[in-house]
Amino acid sequence: MDKAKAQKFANALLSGAAGLASFVFSLAALLYLTELDEKILASIVAGTFCLLICYIASERPNSQSARALAALGDRLLAVEEGDLTSPAPPLVQESMPAVAQAVDKLFAEVRASIDNAHALGMFDPVTSLPNRLHFRGEADKLLATCERDCAMLFVDLDRFKGVNDSLGHARGDQLLTMVANRLRNVVNLEAGPEDMPRPLVARLAGDEFTIFLAGVKPEGVEGIARRVCRAIAEPFELHGHSIDIGASVGVALAPCHGDSVEKLMRAADIAMYQAKSLGGGRYVTFSSALAKRHEHKIATERALTEALERGEFTLALQPQMSLRTGEVTGAEALLRWNHPHGNVAKPSDFIEVAESCGAITDIGNWVLGECAEILAQWQERGRARRVAVNVSPRQLERGDFFERVREAFEARSIPLSLVELEFTETAAMRCTEEQIAAMAALRADGATIAIDDFGTGYSNIARLRSMPLDRVKLDPSLVVDIDRSEKARNIVQSVITLIHAVGADIVAEAIENAAQADLLRTMGAQVVQGYVFAPPMNEDEFFTWLDNAENRKGPRLVTLGGDSVA
Ligand code: C2E
Ligand code: MG
Ligand code: MG
Repeated sequence: MDKAKAQKFANALLSGAAGLASFVFSLAALLYLTELDEKILASIVAGTFCLLICYIASERPNSQSARALAALGDRLLAVEEGDLTSPAPPLVQESMPAVAQAVDKLFAEVRASIDNAHALGMFDPVTSLPNRLHFRGEADKLLATCERDCAMLFVDLDRFKGVNDSLGHARGDQLLTMVANRLRNVVNLEAGPEDMPRPLVARLAGDEFTIFLAGVKPEGVEGIARRVCRAIAEPFELHGHSIDIGASVGVALAPCHGDSVEKLMRAADIAMYQAKSLGGGRYVTFSSALAKRHEHKIATERALTEALERGEFTLALQPQMSLRTGEVTGAEALLRWNHPHGNVAKPSDFIEVAESCGAITDIGNWVLGECAEILAQWQERGRARRVAVNVSPRQLERGDFFERVREAFEARSIPLSLVELEFTETAAMRCTEEQIAAMAALRADGATIAIDDFGTGYSNIARLRSMPLDRVKLDPSLVVDIDRSEKARNIVQSVITLIHAVGADIVAEAIENAAQADLLRTMGAQVVQGYVFAPPMNEDEFFTWLDNAENRKGPRLVTLGGDSVA
């Protein structure tokens, strides 16, 4: 081979090698992503190289270079046996040093690519903590070998989404790294005796972290969980912002709550959800009672999703009367679920679950349609009265809520003046300007707007003043003892005065005796609703009750027991 040709050949091989290196790197990434075996990668490298070598060798059959190439071919075939570390054979180094160097470099790059792919597959790139897969594997090993108690902590950040939304994902990632460091610090302080394995901290996904402690004293685990909560509750300084988040922590112990990592993670997850639903910033330890509640929740969720299709919901109607004239002004529609097991479930049994799993939106839409249906029939009978509909905060979150209200009633030609929407106090206070505007537009078209269960949330007087508002329903806890407690009467009187000052009427609900109704009337409440007058009823019962009420003479409000409200 003359020198120029040999140089050309070496250059071709080098550029082939460089191209192949990037090809191999891409393959490494692809194989990592598709979770194929690295042996396949090695075979592809070797096969491709062999093709290249065979082609070159067939061009130069008898030279020393050809023997070197044959040696190179053998070396490359060794890749199939997993050899990615041996250097290029001496013959290649001697006769084609540049090629030998390129081959060594290529193998080094392939090794680095594989290591990189492994690292990517095992560690979270944001926090450098082990990822879910790695954590599972390591915790499995620890659990299998540890003869003492172990603990699994599931840590979910509170209010992390708000940081991501307001400061952006890059800042969110920085915060996650800071959280990871605090978690590392807490568990490092917990490192037990020398013979005990170090605790594992991992990031599972998003704002979820786990901690696994092998060889712990069960009575000490709650202390660790408490320290985790405290560590995360301390403000984080992030580029001039003081960030307040928190952690909801679920604790599960091995062996009592599970004998596998999977069971422990599920138990800790259930406990974490409980911590979250209690408001976050706290830890909860798994228990069998919690497991039962969770099972009930899952079963209710499943049943709820089918309940609509099966037509298991109905509406009960509870009359509302004027405290001044005794006239029946309307009714509140209250959801009932004819459960497949035969009992009729009340909202307290399922509304919370329906809200947490999102089923409430479809149920709420059904309620709107059913109210429109009921009103259409009342109109046909010439006995139309206003119906009050309870609106879940989750419904209100949907951008199309007010549109849906209009559509539901327009579809049955029901004037909006027959519709009252009841919002919870908290939802009303959190309304955006856009929602307030949509509410005002609906009100301008005749609908009335009420705040339900007033007195249990946090009201902003300025918001109350500016809201398009017709009526405020006092929470039953405010009126339950007004016939017995002067303090209660004073409070209710003050609230009534305040609500009148913002220009709204008062509805007193859950009224159970004539004395309460009497007092509320003298205090200035306008409308009353409660068992003492009528319970929630189905439509037929409602009309029978209405006939009786209307047949009574005079503007007197009479209780079911026959007492009249003076
Ligand atoms: P709410 O809107 O404050 O409804 C009044 C609740 O008080 C009803 O309970 C009613 O049956 C009950 N009640 C009526 N009179 C009396 C009384 O004299 N004494 C006592 N102690 N209670 C009385 P219910 O039907 O179990 O509904 C509970 C809550 O569920 C409702 O409270 C409302 O917040 C929610 N809810 C009911 N229907 C719906 C609905 O269609 N959608 C949504 N999102 N929530 C609903
Ligand atoms: Mg209500
Ligand atoms: Mg209420």
